[in-house]
Amino acid sequence: MPEARPDCIFCAIVAGDSPAEIVDSDDHTVTLMDINPATKGHALVIPRRHSDDLLDIGEDDLTACAIAAQRVVKRMEASLEPDGFNLINATRAAAWQTVFHFHIHVVPRYEDDPLKLPWIPRGADLDEIATIAATIREGR
Ligand code: AMP
Ligand code: ZN
Repeated sequence: MPEARPDCIFCAIVAGDSPAEIVDSDDHTVTLMDINPATKGHALVIPRRHSDDLLDIGEDDLTACAIAAQRVVKRMEASLEPDGFNLINATRAAAWQTVFHFHIHVVPRYEDDPLKLPWIPRGADLDEIATIAATIREGR
């Protein structure tokens, strides 16, 4: 396992140097409770190996995090009995990332919880969507 990054709170948690409520772990991931929960049960899946974000993480660690997230969702489904789930990743500050060690938020949802969709769905010109789609396809 590579060296933990100094000044990375999640690397410190993986190393056991900072406290956390850990609810799941395997060879590649740790899942801990978020200290500022959006809802009851809000947890964070993190890779043991430091990656800054979704652009930086390797496919193996990303796969392990996705599998761990599903495992945690199933465990929450059986224990907390929520009404639904959101998986959220923030990559870079412009997208609300505040801790720069990759993580997937696992947010159990409840019919009466206060969360709101963070964007306003709006109609768009189909030609504009097609142009943007072509631009993305060309980015391969
Ligand atoms: P993001 O804004 O997507 O980067 O999410 C970072 C999350 O990490 C936030 O929801 C914080 O509440 C959470 N967080 C920060 N420090 C800790 C910590 N020491 N233990 C648990 N969660 C943390
Ligand atoms: Zn880290």
